[in-house]
Amino acid sequence: MPELPEVEIVRYGLNVLLPGRTVEKVEFNWRKSFPNADTDVNNFLIGAKVEEVTRRAKALILKLSSQNSLVTHLKMTGQLVFVDKKSLRFGAGHPSDSLIGKLPDKSTHVIITFKDGSKLFFNDQRKFGWMRLLPNAELPQIDFFKKLGPEPLNKDFTWKDLKARLNHRPNTKIKSALLDQSVIAGIGNIYSDESLWSAKIHPATQICNLPDTKIKKLYQAMVSVLMLAIEKGGSTDKNYVDAEGRRGSYLLFANVFRREGQVCSRCGTLIIKIRLAGRGTHLCPKCQRLV
Ligand SMILES: [Zn+2]
Repeated sequence: MPELPEVEIVRYGLNVLLPGRTVEKVEFNWRKSFPNADTDVNNFLIGAKVEEVTRRAKALILKLSSQNSLVTHLKMTGQLVFVDKKSLRFGAGHPSDSLIGKLPDKSTHVIITFKDGSKLFFNDQRKFGWMRLLPNAELPQIDFFKKLGPEPLNKDFTWKDLKARLNHRPNTKIKSALLDQSVIAGIGNIYSDESLWSAKIHPATQICNLPDTKIKKLYQAMVSVLMLAIEKGGSTDKNYVDAEGRRGSYLLFANVFRREGQVCSRCGTLIIKIRLAGRGTHLCPKCQRLV
């Protein structure tokens, strides 16, 4: 599953290429990948211009001139590939051969053709991803968005907001809370382990045992870990490459994730891996003491 930095990289790339292009035609071969009524597609997608590509948590939002948006979730194996008539190509998402091969192929489920002849291919081997057309006014109301916590990189989001949200669940282990998308949006296994190492917090620490100073450190760690990951092109985590098809390099900079048996760069102790909240969890047993 991609995390926030990987999807942000896709968004950034598409936002350079798509705005200003007008949708001429949409084809799909799998209803669950494109669960939209034909009348809505004809009224609000065909003929509409892409105005902007934004993101909420791990969903990409193509804002259209029709006051509607095409919301896309890549899930486990989705990818978006943009190809223009001069064969400029820009692929992002699951790094299968479809990123560079001839399209459409057997993983292609939706093709959006723009008036200038360029195309956006939505490929998804496992078919869990989707593209939903929704009126802008309804976006905040749909369940998927309603359940989401705030964006950690939003400027309005402060360490005090994080504290307030965590305090609702004093007996929860901090890592479980970070993975919970209703507490904070977009953080998964990689960036929770990295943030907790950076803030010197044991992942199993109960929230009621975290003093304000630690929550503040965690907030700062989370922001800088996410920013660094975006700058480095995301983690790939085997499934993701950046918008130009380059592999992300963040894992080269990771301090604990998938580094069990290697030394902690801060204290030299061996990194260990435990199970927590059903997930492989990486930590330094010396820097991250359980309190
Ligand atoms: Zn250490």
